[in-house]
Amino acid sequence: MKPATRAAQALGWIDETTRAVIPPLHAATTYLRDPDNRYRSGRSYGRADNPGYDQPEALLAALEGGEAALLFASGMAAATAVFQALRPGDHVVVPRVMYWGLRKWLQGFAAGWGLAVDFVEPDGYEAALRPGRTKLVWIETPANPTWAVTDIAAVTRAAHAAGALVAVDNTVPTPVLTRPLSLGADLVMHSATKYLNGHSDVIAGALVAARRDDFWRRLVGIRAEGGAILGSFEAWLLLRGMRTLFLRVERACRSAALVAAHFSAHPKVREVLYPGLPSHPGHAVARSQMTGGFGGMLSIRVADPIGTAARVQIWKRATSLGGVESLVEHRASVEGPDSPAPPDLLRLSVGIEDPADLIADLEQAL
Ligand SMILES: *Cc1c(COP(=O)(O)O)cnc(C)c1O
Repeated sequence: MKPATRAAQALGWIDETTRAVIPPLHAATTYLRDPDNRYRSGRSYGRADNPGYDQPEALLAALEGGEAALLFASGMAAATAVFQALRPGDHVVVPRVMYWGLRKWLQGFAAGWGLAVDFVEPDGYEAALRPGRTKLVWIETPANPTWAVTDIAAVTRAAHAAGALVAVDNTVPTPVLTRPLSLGADLVMHSATKYLNGHSDVIAGALVAARRDDFWRRLVGIRAEGGAILGSFEAWLLLRGMRTLFLRVERACRSAALVAAHFSAHPKVREVLYPGLPSHPGHAVARSQMTGGFGGMLSIRVADPIGTAARVQIWKRATSLGGVESLVEHRASVEGPDSPAPPDLLRLSVGIEDPADLIADLEQAL
């Protein structure tokens, strides 16, 4: 079966008790112990085991081509679990252009934990690797908010040769457009808050692993013991959202390409940053590792970003991305002084509205 079919049917699972095609919502926090003191159900307590995770985790693992997936309370909980699984003294290589919340957390956490962190440009990974000492390489591509593109296969070859694992934040392209595990990566991370759920009503995160190895078991332990778990209702909503992932991403890609093409020739727009444009520095690599489109995210650089954002009617001035409604945000205001976001940059998350409305609204705002 093709991935879009598996997503639409959430793997086609049927509830054994009722024959429902949609799973029940499990609220239980505890499970009955057998008279002989064992737990034959395999579940004892809700922090470690939630039957409502099984289907969304299985679906996400299938879409990413991994052996296992883990849901978390947020994208940040998923990402930070990966770094917490490392040991003091370990070295990690991360991009300079990346989701700002994780960059900020790494700048604070890494020192206290004894991690050595190098922040690099997309072409700077190989030079930063310290064979034997580098334990993890982190990739985000296309990366917030300039949509810098990193060659996952090339960086992974170099990282593996140096003995490091590779984790990819796949929030923006989603498995519809990029499957990092098939390019050699070991782990995929998602802010499931964004495209996977897609309706701006759930905060969630996920990790997917190529293999159920020792590192994976460490991550399972960090979730169960650290307790950054997703609520049952949120897991249920997330699965509901993932059923329409392909429709939403395909529509957002098509509309984002139209918006990018329209405004790249606009006298009031200094630059359009979109990996789908041949002028984008990451276009060639994006072409080779993304299939079916270049994503629903782009940025524009304009003389009056705050004023432009103030005048939109249909686009909503809000943070986040990957929802059905289109959002605009001045990233430098959010990210602060050490941000790689130029002060004239507006980030656009293209939703599923009619693209003609989105273009006309930005036109009048400019
Ligand atoms: C939002 C986001 C995160 C953080 O996820 P939360 O669910 O907000 O904790 C991480 N990476 C990227 C690319 C994001 O867009």
